[in-house]
Amino acid sequence: MSKLAKKVALVTGGSRGIGAAIAKRLAADGASVAITYAKDASAASAVVRAIELGGGKAIAIQADAANVEAVKGAVEKAVSTFGRLDVLVNNAGTAIPKPFEEATQEEMDRVIDINVRGVFATTQAALKHMKEGGRIIMVGSAVGERAVAPGLVPYAATKGAVKMFTQALSREVGSRGITVNNVQPGPIDTDLNPASGDWAIPQKAATALDRYGRVDEIAAMVAFVAGAESSYITGANLTVDGGMNA
Ligand code: NDP
Repeated sequence: MSKLAKKVALVTGGSRGIGAAIAKRLAADGASVAITYAKDASAASAVVRAIELGGGKAIAIQADAANVEAVKGAVEKAVSTFGRLDVLVNNAGTAIPKPFEEATQEEMDRVIDINVRGVFATTQAALKHMKEGGRIIMVGSAVGERAVAPGLVPYAATKGAVKMFTQALSREVGSRGITVNNVQPGPIDTDLNPASGDWAIPQKAATALDRYGRVDEIAAMVAFVAGAESSYITGANLTVDGGMNA
């Protein structure tokens, strides 16, 4: 029996990078999966096709995480398509690396709107449908706990907010049998944070394993937290960072 058979998951920002790996892994574990994306419909369709080719069920929904009405609509679409919602993965997120004093207000607002405001709105909409055994999972960041390099000040602040959001919310929904956890990746090779280039050198050097992580290494932790075996883990910040914060 698949670990997530009969479960329904919504993964925000599931068309590329970490979110795509999470969507595929949850589907491989038996869940029906809805993904959201902002711009790239063809990348989102490719994830849906890959899941369907593997015998799973998936849909893609265009919903910018910064648009509260759009994310509410995405939650409703996932529920109306698959009949329920068991797992929400708040993965959509962005960073605009640059020295803090050079960041524009517009850039800072964008990072806050996607990484924090969107997480609040999506979680609130999802909780309306979640029952006993529900799973709210954030994709925060190792830099939400410890800032290892310059250039990510607003981003680190938003991921710190995600960390406390996780801890505080776990206290409110625990009595309903719903867990809330925050998976905190270290440097993972994606379009957002490629393992090659100038930004990568200090990040790789900061890890104990002396390498970037792979998207499937984050998806494995998310799959564990989504499953029944993690039933006594809540309000936790689960860092998967190759030892960057050690
Ligand atoms: P990518 O930029 O590689 O992928 C981002 C995904 O999110 C894409 O599917 C993209 O779709 C979607 N997305 C982007 N903006 C929005 C938006 N406004 N609304 C909805 N979807 C959106 O990022 P990663 O996979 O690297 O990052 C995923 C998460 O992991 C983020 O929360 C990030 O902060 C976190 N993280 C990443 C780390 C890393 O080293 N890579 C380290 C620590 C945390 P589209 O193409 O359509 O825009």
